Amino acid sequence: MKPQLNLIAGEHGAAFSGLRIDVLDPSDGRVFTSLPRSDARDIDAAVQAARAAFHGAWGRCTATERGRILTKLSALILQHHEELSLLECADTGKPIQQAKADITACARYFEYYGGAADKLHGESIPYAAGSTVIAVRVPHGVTGHIIPWNYPAQIFGRSVGGALAAGNACVVKPAEDACLSPLRIAALALQAGLPAGALNIVCGLGVEAGAALAAHTGINHISFTGSPQTGTAVAQAAAANHVPVTLELGGKSPQLLFADADLDKALPVVVNAIVQNAGQTCAAGSRVLIERSIYDTVIAQLKARFEALTTGAGKTGPDCGPLINRRQLDRVSAMIDAALADGIQLAARAKLAADAPAGGFYFPPMLLNAVPSEHPVAQMEVFGPVLAAFAFDSEDEAIELANGTPFGLTAAVWTRDGARQLRAAHRIEAGQVFVNNYGAGGGIELPFGGMKHSGYGREKAFEGLRSFTTIKTIAIQHG
Ligand code: NAD
Repeated sequence: MKPQLNLIAGEHGAAFSGLRIDVLDPSDGRVFTSLPRSDARDIDAAVQAARAAFHGAWGRCTATERGRILTKLSALILQHHEELSLLECADTGKPIQQAKADITACARYFEYYGGAADKLHGESIPYAAGSTVIAVRVPHGVTGHIIPWNYPAQIFGRSVGGALAAGNACVVKPAEDACLSPLRIAALALQAGLPAGALNIVCGLGVEAGAALAAHTGINHISFTGSPQTGTAVAQAAAANHVPVTLELGGKSPQLLFADADLDKALPVVVNAIVQNAGQTCAAGSRVLIERSIYDTVIAQLKARFEALTTGAGKTGPDCGPLINRRQLDRVSAMIDAALADGIQLAARAKLAADAPAGGFYFPPMLLNAVPSEHPVAQMEVFGPVLAAFAFDSEDEAIELANGTPFGLTAAVWTRDGARQLRAAHRIEAGQVFVNNYGAGGGIELPFGGMKHSGYGREKAFEGLRSFTTIKTIAIQHG
């Protein structure tokens, strides 16, 4: 594949540094293209291009015109579905069926926000006699978007879709491990009629291009998805410029299985919620809390399901593809080796397919049994296909376990008892609680974001659109 280029002011080009970053296929570890290794100079050029578009052609578009461009982009993404899915599969290693679902979701973000662009109303406020007060929703201006590698197309759509619909001009720094779909979709956006400079993509390392974007004084809002540590650094850099930030930082999401749960419905969902995207999902269901009376039955059924899972190259359509890179494979392996050395039981492990290419970053899914609730593997995000199981004796204990980590992103409650469904949903500290289903972060129409160390602010849904605006109050005294 040809070397990749940044997109700044509607032009494709190399980084100022002239340096490049190799792009590997996680399925076999082979280099198949390269990215520009951009730095503060490229970020500065992109911010200037975005500012010019915001004050120029893009800023002059009506909300309806913005919506039409995004709707057209959605249609173009669907027209290029096959191409984009293969690109996403090669870039991230994810199973091809997951890559296809991600591209469909990305198109849906642009469809949703395209339709919403001219439905974002302000309000009028009763005030003093002889006055009219209106609160108008206005875009922030130039928005920065720092995207992770786990769902590059989806998170690009969710973040950039909302920002553009609201009238902002965007500077995007995709993850160095997964830039290809954002670059291709940005090129399609030009084809859809998006004015040059409204959407700029700058590839590079987090500590160089990412840090430069977070600290740039020309940025008016930052949307960040990634690790808690980087989220802190981004928020600190933004705070120096008094810039608002939306942080989506991952989780340790629990699924609560009560004794009256419909296990035939629950267990396939429980398994999928941790195996999807090889567990590299911020909303992965990485903990299963099981009422003690059904604990052994559930573990036996989960064991059978884990042992039947396939792991292999993304393009062969396995249940589980490789992890994103060597560093993540080493990190996940070290965490699990430490847990097993501490005496935590391995209840089940899937096998690696015989035809999985050597050199790929594979970690077959794993079920851990009777995990102590304070152990690091019960508290920290593994970001791999590892499900930790815990027993509970009462509803109170289940809630205490569910809330007993630093995170609060998503959760699921499986029970037929309607009162318990509502009680548990209200008591669990999470941005999304599912009852008798689990979204693993899905649902473009559903507000999404965390509590506690999972972050703050909301994306997706109409709430996500509002995040990309601020309110200007206009008070008129007319007598
Ligand atoms: P990361 O947080 O370092 O990277 C996310 C994005 O931030 C990337 O685009 C990266 O280039 C950028 N970045 C990195 N350092 C930066 C800095 N100093 N300033 C500005 N931007 C910077 O995540 P990672 O290293 O790729 O993965 C490490 C861990 O992060 C994972 O194991 C996982 O726990 C977590 N993670 C979470 C999510 C999520 O969706 N919540 C996504 C990816 C990774």
